[in-house]
Amino acid sequence: IPDVLTFGESMVSLRSAGPLADGGALGMHLAGAESNVAIALARLGHRSAWAGRVSADELGEYVLRRLRGEGVDTGGAVRDAERPTGLMFLEQRTADLTRVQYRRADSAGSALAVDDLRGPLAAGARVLHLTGITPALSESARQATLWAAKTASAAGIPVCLDVNYRARLWSRDEARAVLAPLSSYASIVVASEDELDLVGDPGADGPAVVAGLRDRGAGTVLVKLGAAGARAYTPDGVHTAGALAVTAVDTVGAGDAFTAGYLSGRLDGLDVAGCLRRAVTLGAFAVSSRGDWEGLPRRDELSMLDGHEPGSTI
Ligand code: ATP
Repeated sequence: IPDVLTFGESMVSLRSAGPLADGGALGMHLAGAESNVAIALARLGHRSAWAGRVSADELGEYVLRRLRGEGVDTGGAVRDAERPTGLMFLEQRTADLTRVQYRRADSAGSALAVDDLRGPLAAGARVLHLTGITPALSESARQATLWAAKTASAAGIPVCLDVNYRARLWSRDEARAVLAPLSSYASIVVASEDELDLVGDPGADGPAVVAGLRDRGAGTVLVKLGAAGARAYTPDGVHTAGALAVTAVDTVGAGDAFTAGYLSGRLDGLDVAGCLRRAVTLGAFAVSSRGDWEGLPRRDELSMLDGHEPGSTI
């Protein structure tokens, strides 16, 4: 059985080096929060599986080939002959600013349904990872996400939920109405500080939300603090880890890398400090290399950033 099963929408991301309105070359990449986590784990040597819908055409083929090429099991993926694979454009608008546009409405990925997940979930996993993006995609994707979380938790499979709020897909109130109940099936909840109120009562402050989550069964709550690192609330107390000192060139995918690092540590049986250390290490790799996941480390590269100054040669 896979160490980690995840599901969601993976898209084709088209990246430009300058303003999109000026045209020019676009690079084709694979994008998707859950597939980022699946790839990060596979690179570290864990068995990871991804489920979801992709188009039956070349773009769907591209998504699956990229995942397989990274060692992710895509046996549970569904080809949808009616709908296109979602697209996103990443425009390097200025040196400091990347602008994102999506073409994902009515995509194959957003048509995910309960039946798509029955097989992958029946096969089992050591952990089920899901994000708050999937339930925002469509009514059927919302039902599928809730069903998977419920079914896994009833079967004793720990569920990891990354809140991953997407303002383009739904409002904060809509998100809270779905994600707060969903979080009650999760044993690990991952959020940025500004996402915490989406898994608690409206208006509740961070500590109150964390206390509520832990009362409802989330043994671990991970709060990502960007360049300041992260905090873990666990049954063994509160642990913090600083970020690694790196040059940030592309922050997209940092949160996914962080989550994969934490899960990797758990799968290896590390203590909380060890898990957090691996999480901030993967986050540092993600921000200091271009691409959402392309720069993530293999297991033998995990200590590569330790003690190196910017500009070093190894
Ligand atoms: P994204 O949505 O871009 O994936 P996020 O908001 O989910 O990011 P962040 O808190 O920005 O997540 O980053 C996740 C982790 O990555 C942080 O906890 C930290 O360990 C690491 N990280 C983020 N920014 C930096 C940075 N500038 N330098 C080093 N590490 C960083």
